[in-house]
Amino acid sequence: MKRDESLDRVRSQQQPYDVLVIGGGATGLGTALDAASRGLTALLLEQHDFAKGTSSRSTKLVHGGVRYLAQGDIALVREACRERGLLQKNARHLVKNETFVIPAYKWWTKPFYTIGLTMYDVLAGSLSLGRSLPVSRKDTIRRLPTVKKNKLSGGVKYHDGQFDDSRLAINVAQTTEELGGTVINYMKVTGLLKTNGKVSGVTAVDQESGEAFTINAKTVVNATGVFVDDILSMDQPEHKNMVRPSQGVHLVLDKEFFPGEDALMIPKTSDGRVLFAVPWHDKVVVGTTDTPLDEHSLEPKALEEEIEFILATAKEYLIQAPTRKDVKSVFAGLRPLAAPQGDSQKTKEISRSHKLLVSESGLLTMTGGKWTTFRKMGEDTIDKAIKIGELSAQKCGTETLPIHGSEQTHPFSDPMYFYGSDKDRILQLGKENERFGEKIHADHPYLIAEVVWAVRNEMARNVEDFLARRTRVLFLDARAAIDMAPVVAEVMAAELGKNDTWISEQIEDFVKLANRYLLEEYKPVLTEKEHN
Ligand SMILES: Cc1cc2nc3c(=O)[nH]c(=O)nc-3n(C[C@H](O)[C@H](O)[C@H](O)COP(=O)(O)OP(=O)(O)OC[C@H]3O[C@@H](n4cnc5c(N)ncnc54)[C@H](O)[C@@H]3O)c2cc1C
Repeated sequence: MKRDESLDRVRSQQQPYDVLVIGGGATGLGTALDAASRGLTALLLEQHDFAKGTSSRSTKLVHGGVRYLAQGDIALVREACRERGLLQKNARHLVKNETFVIPAYKWWTKPFYTIGLTMYDVLAGSLSLGRSLPVSRKDTIRRLPTVKKNKLSGGVKYHDGQFDDSRLAINVAQTTEELGGTVINYMKVTGLLKTNGKVSGVTAVDQESGEAFTINAKTVVNATGVFVDDILSMDQPEHKNMVRPSQGVHLVLDKEFFPGEDALMIPKTSDGRVLFAVPWHDKVVVGTTDTPLDEHSLEPKALEEEIEFILATAKEYLIQAPTRKDVKSVFAGLRPLAAPQGDSQKTKEISRSHKLLVSESGLLTMTGGKWTTFRKMGEDTIDKAIKIGELSAQKCGTETLPIHGSEQTHPFSDPMYFYGSDKDRILQLGKENERFGEKIHADHPYLIAEVVWAVRNEMARNVEDFLARRTRVLFLDARAAIDMAPVVAEVMAAELGKNDTWISEQIEDFVKLANRYLLEEYKPVLTEKEHN
């Protein structure tokens, strides 16, 4: 995946693309992947980095959605459970079979959730990840050692998948390119082209060079998440809003607050929502919230009440209550939920299923859904695009299509597990060049070879791309990310041919950004070399 080559391909493309996708999150990537896998010419344009938006800010679950089961949305749960199973087979290196435990403090919890979760297993059919079962008090304490024991009678365990969202995004982008598609980050769509009232392409601007592009396409897909209404306005200035953003916040804590391999699931918090504590890399992710907002941005900020709500709920269930100073990182994401059409303002009641809108101009807009169902969303979108654009395409084959890197040779405890089949090639870089084999920072496992790899093969363009989405340091430990930024900037500059000014700007920008992921400002301790 090399950006310069992708740009050259776009410049020399003579024919209109069969499918042009706007947006490089889960939805857009799933759509571009589906198109490329059916032999269609496909181009995806992302205004920032792949998965910069919501798709790097999820709870990291590949799940059927236990709470949608409680809401009686059987069709949604069945579809998501099936997609969960397919994704686990197709991205073996990224999707872990995780055991979740619901602790029981009331007499009815065990029988109630055992019955409900058995239904969950039945809906998954042959793609089930394991049986849901009641567990004893002793076993619950063994699985969740830091959970409060007063009045604990046991628990119920069930299985779902757990993954790394932005790593999956990068690997899907790579798979799309391997199938002949083209994906480009830092390329913003600025307008729609029309021929006889029908959408026939886009105008776009390279955010790095400022170069303007006019690109023709037989079909155009708007997969811009919470930004879909901005693209719909380019098509029809007077249109009804399709999306209402709903913010979800997560806090990341050290494993000491929640040691062990299993995840915690609280099915009903004080405000009636679901709260998870999920082990992720060497930390634990706790969340989430559901706060309707009237605006959207690529860097949404956690509200004070959301942070306090998560800390207060964690305190209710964990022996050692985490405080603000224990938070390693806080991140917020925006759900692109379908805007309520009636008077209801409650986003938790808005259906989470995906929606495909076909505008009069032929513009296709896909939104809603979840990461887990990205493959099916792509399939549904391309089925429609084939009809609208009268495209000649093969049948969808993504159900059994392995995603780049899919190979489970490395245990999930391996700090480089998420590279799957690429891991050995990255280590090889370290053998060829002594410096590449060194760690970026003495206290963290990441190697300089990973930075080099990300630039050469994963279209990483700046420090943020590497520390936020190629690796997850910003989301796991924002202070560590700040400490690593100078070395990452220097290595990237050498790879990308950038000068010292670029390095200084990168560090400054990144420190500013990373502080948004912290509850208290952190200023890096400069080394002697950096002082000079
Ligand atoms: C808090 C939270 C927790 C979640 N947890 C889970 C979970 O555990 N499991 C799960 O399956 N799902 C989960 N989801 C849902 C899932 O993350 C989303 O459904 C999914 O990521 C949405 O992807 P998207 O591609 O539609 O949007 P995005 O990821 O936001 O992608 C849209 C992209 O379009 C780009 N764009 C916008 N305008 C333009 C333009 N003009 N030109 C080019 N590009 C443009 C943006 O930069 C952005 O990258 C969660 C969501 C939230 C908010």
